[in-house]
Amino acid sequence: MSHEAVELLQALIRNQCVNDGTPESGFEVRSVATLAEYLGVEGEVFEPAPGRQSVVYRIPGEDPEAPSLALAPHLDVVPVDRGGWSVDPFAADIVDGFVFGRGAVDMLNVTAAMTVAARPYLVGERKPRGDLLFCALADEENGGRLGAMPLVENRWDLVKADYLLTEVAYPGLLVDDHKAVPVSIGEKGAYWSILETAGSPGHGSLPYGTDNALEKMVTALAGMVDTPVPADITEDWAAFVRNLGLSEESTRRLVDIDQLDDEIDRIAVSDPTLARYIHAATHLTISTNILRAGTKTNVVADRAHAELDIRGLPGMDREFVDSHLQKAMGTAAGHVEIRPIMDSDATVSTIGNPLWEAIGDAVEELDGHRNLAPTLMMVATDARFWRARGTVCYGVGLFDDRMSFSEMLTLFHGQDERVSAASVERTTTLYERVLARFFAEA
Ligand SMILES: [Zn+2]
Repeated sequence: MSHEAVELLQALIRNQCVNDGTPESGFEVRSVATLAEYLGVEGEVFEPAPGRQSVVYRIPGEDPEAPSLALAPHLDVVPVDRGGWSVDPFAADIVDGFVFGRGAVDMLNVTAAMTVAARPYLVGERKPRGDLLFCALADEENGGRLGAMPLVENRWDLVKADYLLTEVAYPGLLVDDHKAVPVSIGEKGAYWSILETAGSPGHGSLPYGTDNALEKMVTALAGMVDTPVPADITEDWAAFVRNLGLSEESTRRLVDIDQLDDEIDRIAVSDPTLARYIHAATHLTISTNILRAGTKTNVVADRAHAELDIRGLPGMDREFVDSHLQKAMGTAAGHVEIRPIMDSDATVSTIGNPLWEAIGDAVEELDGHRNLAPTLMMVATDARFWRARGTVCYGVGLFDDRMSFSEMLTLFHGQDERVSAASVERTTTLYERVLARFFAEA
């Protein structure tokens, strides 16, 4: 049965629902059609912009008192730079047991697995105890404005759920003989910001004493790059770091705020990807990604515009972010206007509930242990819309041992994105067991 999920994954990759951030991209209508064709039943379709379809199936449970569970994967993928790929990113070829293609790990592998696992309930072969929702969503890769956000805001009656499963599914962690399966329980806050400076235009041949917007901006950004970002060791981090397989000494230093940064620098020498992950898991991060200024080579710049991707740990809210930025920009701060373009606080779900136990049971059955490692995600996912309304949200998958946690991190939005067919099958079985356990015990 499970190879169905691999075929479905291939079909979803080939649909090329590439979201470039514009409303005209994505065109998830193709994958909604693929799902309807596979399932043989239609859900309720939402299309806030032409072609930007999401679909919701809500199956009423037999016991109205039993908790509800939503599976809420997304259908869109990010653009590719074909040059860096060794294969066609949309052919979904299987090479050496790996399905290659944009979306193979973010997150069409899980979308396919969830669809196959939910099918018996969606077509009426099995009855869930509480309500089961299956929401296949558009536009996750651009903040869910044409997908989860309006659905949760306007159709809460339809999409409300006590529990929800979505991103991110990571490969297992293996330390000596100790295995653990990461479960995403929360995500950092996103505080994307535009910085703007103004000056006065004048002739570029006479720069002395002019009011140059670009110079102010560069001074502000330099301060930001030079100022260390605030760190925090959360309880979740302290619990998670033990699963990374580092030496006892290294593990100890990574939960000591005074030694943390030095230890990250040390790890970066041998494993830059892991160092980057650890840094993000323990710090406010600022990535300075866009800078535009001026009009002409011989005209003093009268305006400058920068865009920053800023992510905060739980407790680091907009006020915290702005106060760090003000401090970091130093003398330039007074000349810079900060305009938020995304203000979304970190969200974290608690553990120890029927869904957590159902995942533990399923992992124990399939992987021989029930070590779940609660993980904070660096990225924003659709889960935040539900978490903000009290829904407990997790992300989980079950991979084979052909890809490590660290390797997987480089494939997110990266080149030669791929997943082993066996991992897709294992993840499908995991979801089948989670649904069976959740609805049996709920
Ligand atoms: Zn994703």
